[in-house]
Amino acid sequence: MSTSVSMNPEHRMGTPSYVRVLVDRVIRRELDYSVPENLAERVGVGSRVRVPFRDKSALATVVAVLDESNVEGIRPIEEVIGQTPVLSEQLLELSTWVSVYYCCPIETVMRSMLPQVIRRAEVGWKKQLFVQPARNIEAEEIEKLHKRAPRQAELLEAITKLEKPIRAAELLRQTALDNQTLRALVKRGLAELREEAIIRDPHGDEQFIATSNLVLNEEQTHALNEITQALDSPENARPILLHGVTGSGKTEIYLQAIRAALDRGRTAIVLVPEISLTPQTVERFKGRFAESQDAVAVLHSHLSEGERHDEWHKIHSGRARIVIGARSAIFAPLKNLGLIVVDEEHETTYKQEEAPRYHARDIAVVRAKIEKCVVVMGSATPSLESYHNAAIGKYRLVTLTQRVDEKQMPLMRIVDLRQERRKEKKATILSEKLSQAIADRLEKREQTILFLNRRGFSTSLLCSNCGEARNCPNCSVALTFHQHSLQGGSSRRGETMSGRLSCHLCGHTAAVPKKCPACGQDALIYYGFGTEKVESTVAQIFPKAVVCRMDADSMTRKEAYRETLRNFRTGKIDILVGTQMIAKGLHFPNVTLVGIINADLALHLPDFRAGERTFQLLTQVAGRAGRGETSGEVFVQTYTPFSPSIQFARHHDFAGYFQQELEFRERCDFPPFKHAILITARSAHQGRAKLSAETLKRRLKEALPEEFILGDAAPAPLEKLQGQFRYHILIRGEAIMRLSRLVRETLDKLPLPEDVTVTVDVDPYQLL
Ligand code: ADP
Ligand code: ZN
Repeated sequence: MSTSVSMNPEHRMGTPSYVRVLVDRVIRRELDYSVPENLAERVGVGSRVRVPFRDKSALATVVAVLDESNVEGIRPIEEVIGQTPVLSEQLLELSTWVSVYYCCPIETVMRSMLPQVIRRAEVGWKKQLFVQPARNIEAEEIEKLHKRAPRQAELLEAITKLEKPIRAAELLRQTALDNQTLRALVKRGLAELREEAIIRDPHGDEQFIATSNLVLNEEQTHALNEITQALDSPENARPILLHGVTGSGKTEIYLQAIRAALDRGRTAIVLVPEISLTPQTVERFKGRFAESQDAVAVLHSHLSEGERHDEWHKIHSGRARIVIGARSAIFAPLKNLGLIVVDEEHETTYKQEEAPRYHARDIAVVRAKIEKCVVVMGSATPSLESYHNAAIGKYRLVTLTQRVDEKQMPLMRIVDLRQERRKEKKATILSEKLSQAIADRLEKREQTILFLNRRGFSTSLLCSNCGEARNCPNCSVALTFHQHSLQGGSSRRGETMSGRLSCHLCGHTAAVPKKCPACGQDALIYYGFGTEKVESTVAQIFPKAVVCRMDADSMTRKEAYRETLRNFRTGKIDILVGTQMIAKGLHFPNVTLVGIINADLALHLPDFRAGERTFQLLTQVAGRAGRGETSGEVFVQTYTPFSPSIQFARHHDFAGYFQQELEFRERCDFPPFKHAILITARSAHQGRAKLSAETLKRRLKEALPEEFILGDAAPAPLEKLQGQFRYHILIRGEAIMRLSRLVRETLDKLPLPEDVTVTVDVDPYQLL
């Protein structure tokens, strides 16, 4: 489907004589320019402009419009990009906040806030030709033409019957006539072609089945009421944390809350983690608001530049009133924003791991404050930060304790791998109990999910003679052995060890050596295991079962993902083995068993969130079991059966878990009690990286008041990454804005060797 659009400016603008701009390339410096008369009409706060800068020209954003300026020798702006300002004043304010809080230049913020196609105005509208009659055409005229040129007459007849202009391509398809015929008619002055912009809609060809509101249960009704009350007086509303077990009907609440926002003439943003931005999710939202195809815009990282351009304009022009998207959709240029929903608010994919290193959930809260709108954060396993904010009254906590279908939470069984090891004398992949349970499911024709958060076949290749492991030459990690080519899909049994070694951090690959390259002995052993090995082990034990693996290696094609999910849904697959890709948000009624192959993987990372992540993961994965008629069972295999994350998850005891974890964090001055800033100095030259980190640490010691806890410059847990040596400095404190500013000032004054890069990560999630 395509829609034609008007590109006339709809905004009233003054006629500014001067503007103050932020040049993309300069850090935190505002410059004044004059505005030539012919451009004045189109300039306003939030406009993107091209300005002369030094001896070149540069892109910039207008932050203020001035009547006068006392800058001497002021120069005029060269060009205005777009017809109307691209940033609202609220978004401009937000960009400044992001830049200060996350300690990064405004240019980097602009890069996240505006898609490249808009920022630099490189891609335009897709234009298409529309046909209409050139004038009023009589029937005799067509008849006369018929004798000389029957095909032209036929086409002309079709054109005269049109109620409105039609796309030329569409007309030719309908009439089965060719372009030459059409051109001839135009030449005769009988038909007219007009160029019009059309929208590239990635979902344009799909039909969405309209759905209507479900009747909410008591808990849902209460939750929705809280949200609508907030919508009615957003000035005094606190952010709402919706803590509801998986399957408690949170999404239905979002849908009805959005409807309530639209009814009040407002717009809405829904953030979902990229990984759950699946066709099903999009369908649910498009379906509910199907009355107008344009109402819902979808933003994700797979859009083409052209599609991104069009979706952005659809939002900016006000035609789209709901935006659903991953992280960066928090910057969507909706006007009159009424509601922001952050689904699965605990997800770490909301944190961007490159500058600007922002957290979309936290930005949602700030944007809501600026725009005076309501923000709802939902999760079955809220982050400790959000839960703490609710506990101290900054957020309003709303809980859903029941599944909609009144299903029991699945039964969690802990398998002590230490005992298994004593029995088997080697690392267990499938314990006897889990094996039994799988066999039982196969018999009953029910499905199983096996979860292991590690790809590959063996996690390392060791020499049993000299102890040397095959490490990545660029990173300080062992290379993982992959048995299949990295595109393989379902299991192929009986294959020999013919694969390759690969680094999961930098992608380096190497052939598998026959002998140990260090000592020359034929003593190499494969050690540790990943999803590939689980898949092949399961296939060996259950030769009749259909086993499929779903991880980043087997799902390199986008269709592979959909295909596998469809096959699983329709029961063609008995056992699905996978990484976190399968842990999130998927609904499979016939899955009654979930096995967590090794719950300890995340638990022993040098990261203060390790326990929290394990708890969340267990709870989320467990939520996959027993959504249908039969209740589910979860087997958790672990070497540390008594760790709190595992025990609390086992009893579905959120409050208990949060309580003890918060005590631990407070005792150790970790978030959410203190903010953290992680500074990394890296260089291919180890000595210079180390020296720079140490110098920086000394300067920070001088600059920072006592209240901030300044750690030593120390090698990062992952000391070498992609050929670069890395040193960390961790700072903690409460007054984060002040700390950010002091860190930035200290860094600005510190000259660094050219080959040393320093990055600043505020509220870091990646501590390795
Ligand atoms: P969550 O987002 O909390 O995991 P969902 O909103 O996806 O839960 O709801 C789980 C299932 O229950 C969905 O299939 C949904 O359509 C259905 N559902 C939600 N609310 C209701 C309701 N009030 N009545 C009937 N079915 C509901
Ligand atoms: Zn590597």
